[in-house]
Amino acid sequence: MLDTGRTARRLESYVSGAWRAGQGEAKPLAHAATGEVHALISSDGLDFAGALDWGRRTGGTALRRHTLHERALMLKAIGQALMAGKDEFYAESLATGATPRDAWPDIDGGIGTMLTFASKARRELPNAHVLPEGPVEMLSRDGSFVGQHILTPLEGVAVHINAFNFPVWGMLEKIAPALIAGVPCVVKPASQTAYLTELVVRRILEMQILPEGALQLICGGVGDLLDHVTGQDAVTFTGSAQTGQKLRTHPAVVQNSVRFTMEADSLNAAILGPDAGPGTPEFDLFVKEVAREMTAKAGQKCTAIRRVLVPAAHEGAVIDALRATLDRTAVGLPDDAQTRMGALVSLGEREGVRARIREIAAEAEIVCGTPDEVRLSSGDAARGAFLNPVLLRCADPFTARAPHEIEAFGPVATVMAYDGVEEAVALAKLGKGSLVSSVFTNDTGVAAEMVRGVAAFHGRIMLGNRDSAKSSTGHGAPLAPLVHGGPGRAGGGEEMGGMRGVKHFMMRSAIQGTPRLLAAVTGEWVPGAPAQQDIHPFRKSLADLRIGDQIVTDRREITEADVEHFAHFTGDTFYAHMDREAARANPFFEDRVAHGYLIASFAAGLFVMPEPGPVLANYGVDHLRFLAPVYFGDSLQVRLTCKQITPRDGTVYGEVRWDCCVTNQNQEVVAQYDVLTMVAKTWPLTE
Ligand code: NDP
Repeated sequence: MLDTGRTARRLESYVSGAWRAGQGEAKPLAHAATGEVHALISSDGLDFAGALDWGRRTGGTALRRHTLHERALMLKAIGQALMAGKDEFYAESLATGATPRDAWPDIDGGIGTMLTFASKARRELPNAHVLPEGPVEMLSRDGSFVGQHILTPLEGVAVHINAFNFPVWGMLEKIAPALIAGVPCVVKPASQTAYLTELVVRRILEMQILPEGALQLICGGVGDLLDHVTGQDAVTFTGSAQTGQKLRTHPAVVQNSVRFTMEADSLNAAILGPDAGPGTPEFDLFVKEVAREMTAKAGQKCTAIRRVLVPAAHEGAVIDALRATLDRTAVGLPDDAQTRMGALVSLGEREGVRARIREIAAEAEIVCGTPDEVRLSSGDAARGAFLNPVLLRCADPFTARAPHEIEAFGPVATVMAYDGVEEAVALAKLGKGSLVSSVFTNDTGVAAEMVRGVAAFHGRIMLGNRDSAKSSTGHGAPLAPLVHGGPGRAGGGEEMGGMRGVKHFMMRSAIQGTPRLLAAVTGEWVPGAPAQQDIHPFRKSLADLRIGDQIVTDRREITEADVEHFAHFTGDTFYAHMDREAARANPFFEDRVAHGYLIASFAAGLFVMPEPGPVLANYGVDHLRFLAPVYFGDSLQVRLTCKQITPRDGTVYGEVRWDCCVTNQNQEVVAQYDVLTMVAKTWPLTE
């Protein structure tokens, strides 16, 4: 059982290179489940403008000296070390009221998100300071003036103002993309659970992996910090809509066009498909998911299911099934093995949730739970912020406002009946923009209609059915590779989404100029930029290979015999290669044509070096296009140019992307693609 005899820890902030305690009297933070004072918090007297300046000058400058991969590697090392020492975070997390199972998405989920970002960044981004984006655009007929988008790190600070419900994940999912982008962070956790964030930040800083100034922490209020934000800073906010709107319209944020991302109240819906009646696997999955989302973290999740939309015919069955599950939910101390649901974060929050339930209940009836009487399996409801799950039913969901507008941030949801898919879509939209909704159906038509109907109002939609019952990550879990955020009431923000999340902290600029100058900016070869031809580039290891190293091959003629042989050898006897009359009747061809893959194969035959050498393997092609037909008698030539070099950390090789351009005897481009190879860092290979 919980150790309630410990002394309260006075939290500190880490700003301008040192841990600092706030001045004056600190505010006590109560343990969610026991009511004892767990920590003391104050940021009074800190120099907030100085912290921003320190981050920009010290942290930003140091981070920008590293490449995208180097920064990602720092996060990998931090993530691995945090994972190894996570037990103390779980112990500290009990004070937030969360059971260990509830803490998993916060702690393991947060560290896992950081590791995913670190891994994806090294797989998907170049090992460079500048991130090119999209194709090179031809801006002149002769190719002498081209354009491309590039991204570079903002030169300010990312200020992350987080909610109380995910003290670890909320920080890590935001600092990971910002730090990979090269932007230092100032984290301001919600006061109520800041002790857990503070502990994690202490461990991160003790590792001394991040450069000084890359990560700062404010425990307590942010004082006048927002008065000092500039157009190079970014502010992300998670919390109540009321605070979010206040911060979004802060004069400095508005005047300086500060990037502001907000994630706020969201009345997320779970929709039971009309096909998913009692007795179907989807019905059971739906009930299980709604009950789980209501009770996980005591319903204190921005993605939790608040609105339960069900076909009118199944409303009674859904309520009965939910009631049976919710009534069985043991509420108690978070470290009690019997407990299925822990405490809300504070007694104040519990009163807030009770007040919201009363507001919703003015337009709905409570069908399960008693908000003002708490039944516990352990703990003391007078001291701990416990509350049993409360299910409401709204009989008139199209005229009622409260169930669609009031977020009771606890184990609370409202069941509403619909008649037909159109009505379900209309009800979901009454939430005026949500982070996520889920649709439980095994009917492809229902899935397609529902998603098309509600997608514009949602950042994420999860489709649940029998086939993904075991593998589904569930309604409530935001995932690092997918976007998290929602329009309208949900705040209008977008986070994560893989490398999209990194770009939120970078500036996209359109660069125009000659290919030579553009290549110098991006570090990648573009057609028209200078190239050098000395020894065959496949004979060069990464130690010698340079961007722009090029080979122009001999020519090879394509004969009818080649095409016949290739067709019968591969089995690809498509008529355009085999049947003259049929080929001529085809609007694209004047005669029989060579196979596209034969062209690519001949191209490889022209440019590879047969002997063992530094090119270790070919692992694919990108952007392959066959641009003009190749007829018998045409002769092919290849121009292969080293376009991008990405050394891999911890291995003996790197990845090299080659621009491959195949032309015919008239200098027409017949095929264009990128060849992807793995090339040894040195040759011969060393151990
Ligand atoms: P708040 O909006 O009060 O706080 C969110 C964050 O903003 C906290 O870090 C808070 O710090 C900070 N903050 C508050 N006022 C200011 C200010 N003037 N300037 C700068 N920062 C400020 O939300 P809570 O976390 O207290 O939760 C209240 C309600 O918000 C919940 O009951 C729930 O309804 C909703 N909520 C919604 C979430 C969602 O994602 N949908 C997530 C969490 C909450 P401090 O704690 O120090 O005040």
